[in-house]
Amino acid sequence: MVHAGVILMVEDEQPVQEVARLYLEREGFRVASALDGEEALQKVRSENPDLVVLDIMLPKKDGWTVCREIRRHLAVPIIMLSAKGEEYDRVLGLELGADDYITKPFSPRELVARVKAVLRRSSAAAGEAEAGEVFRYPGLTVDTAAHLVKVHGETVPLTPKEFELLAFLAARPRRVLNREQLLAGVWGYEYPGDTRTVDTHIKRLREKLRGTGRSYLRTVWGLGYKFEV
Ligand code: CA
Repeated sequence: MVHAGVILMVEDEQPVQEVARLYLEREGFRVASALDGEEALQKVRSENPDLVVLDIMLPKKDGWTVCREIRRHLAVPIIMLSAKGEEYDRVLGLELGADDYITKPFSPRELVARVKAVLRRSSAAAGEAEAGEVFRYPGLTVDTAAHLVKVHGETVPLTPKEFELLAFLAARPRRVLNREQLLAGVWGYEYPGDTRTVDTHIKRLREKLRGTGRSYLRTVWGLGYKFEV
């Protein structure tokens, strides 16, 4: 079965974990789980989820701390879970970059609906960014309609794949993308599994963008690459 995405469920209460897993899997999601804040951060790296459902009251590290640490590196959508009787701090949630929140006890249907809504919003935002946009960063312009890249106003010749890779990353600033995501997003299934292709293209792009005087294409050790702004 083609899955609808990977959801990382972070919650130390087993019954909540289980009911969430049951309903999300029924909708075609693959569910990874973490039972405390430290495990959550490990699983964010190892599972590379499409969305994180994050309880606030957790052993080891609370949900706010985990949210802040995830946001240092990743733009993955996050839905916070708050306990009944504990008022959700909307301002803090916004500051830390949470996308939505749900109060426990919730109905499993509500959870599924929120997960789908947040995923739709985030993929619509990424899609809009790609359709004929011009990304302007200091010393660098990426024009996706004209298929042109300029460094300080001078056009830089790129191969089609170099261009697509740069546009894909420039449309997602600050977001860490692993080699598999870049392969799937830029090459489709043309080169299944050959992640070295990504590295060689990044290397060539860096040389071609050297004139910007900035290192836009950052390596994030153990994870992949990100477009640094
Ligand atoms: Ca909890």
